[in-house]
Amino acid sequence: MCPPALPSTLGQLPTPALLLDLDILERNVERMAQRARQLGVALRPHVKTHKSPQIGRLQQGNGAQGITVSTLEEAAAFADHGFDDLTWAVPVILGRLEEAQRLAERVRLRLVIDSAVALEALEASGFPFHVWLEVDCGDHRCGVDPEGREAAALAAALAASPRLCFDGLLTHSGQAYRATSPVGLPGIAEQERRVMTQLADRLRRAGVEVPAVSIGSTPAMSAAASLEGVDEARPGNYVFYDFTQVELGSCEVGDCALTVLSSVISCQPGARYAVVDAGALALSKDPGRGGGKPTLGEVFEDYRGARLSAGVRLTGLSQEHGLLSAPLPVGTRLRILPNHSCLTAACFDGYWVLRGTQVVDRWPILRHKS
Ligand code: PLP
Repeated sequence: MCPPALPSTLGQLPTPALLLDLDILERNVERMAQRARQLGVALRPHVKTHKSPQIGRLQQGNGAQGITVSTLEEAAAFADHGFDDLTWAVPVILGRLEEAQRLAERVRLRLVIDSAVALEALEASGFPFHVWLEVDCGDHRCGVDPEGREAAALAAALAASPRLCFDGLLTHSGQAYRATSPVGLPGIAEQERRVMTQLADRLRRAGVEVPAVSIGSTPAMSAAASLEGVDEARPGNYVFYDFTQVELGSCEVGDCALTVLSSVISCQPGARYAVVDAGALALSKDPGRGGGKPTLGEVFEDYRGARLSAGVRLTGLSQEHGLLSAPLPVGTRLRILPNHSCLTAACFDGYWVLRGTQVVDRWPILRHKS
């Protein structure tokens, strides 16, 4: 049976629809690849942003060396699509070691730990897992304290392990998302580099072999002046960017590749607001940076001109309803720029891939969960 024909233009798409601007996506992928080359690091992009083998292959075609994933399901889905070198960049879930081992028997799966308990469990498994040690470079989420004894003890134990393969030190500069202005980003990027390279140097001087240093967030990569001493970077969001990245100064509005097409479905006489068909299950409820004008999604006034509306934005979201800050006629179609493109993409089953206003493809989103 032939698959149903694609709608051929933007105007024919049913709403809410997740739109992917292919020209912008390709430009973002090329630019970050070029930036990584200039900074002298390998690129291992985080695919949790897009969960799309098509985009992963585009990144590989631009020189990405391996990928980063955030769940075992994502890892398995990408492995099924031929990706064979994956870092699962959250501290390993001890109850899922058998699943991890089954996957690691068919692809190179690199795990992450930040505790002695996890190290013991990996040793006890008897399987020669590849393992990164996660270090806290200032985000204060996961990772060992780079100044603490645990960092040196775990690195030494990993390096000396007769079975496990120590991949090196890994971090994520999530604190970049808390930068109060774009001026702060270069300092955060440098903090990430310095914390990691200083720890690597200290360990090496103590005789611990540290094979590699892995860092990465989109805002830090946009601002880093030097990555000397770093081996690889793992940005993810840069493929799409979003309103948070615009506010942070990592990109311009015209660099944002992902939008949600929605329709006004209600606007009562005399009301000072309208309701669209894109709610929290189309945009996520990420509050963004809550800057000058708190927003749950920005509305394009002119997409081609990369201009956002000054007066209309999303101010409320329930499951399938979005509240607009101004009245608009029922039936009006709007293009919305989400606060957080990774969460927005994870709300949909697929991308409508566009060149201009032409629909050129439909790409699935592998958002499997157990
Ligand atoms: N590495 C890890 C461990 C992460 O958690 C993330 C994102 O959350 C990334 C890399 C990619 O960062 P970004 O989305 O800022 O590009």
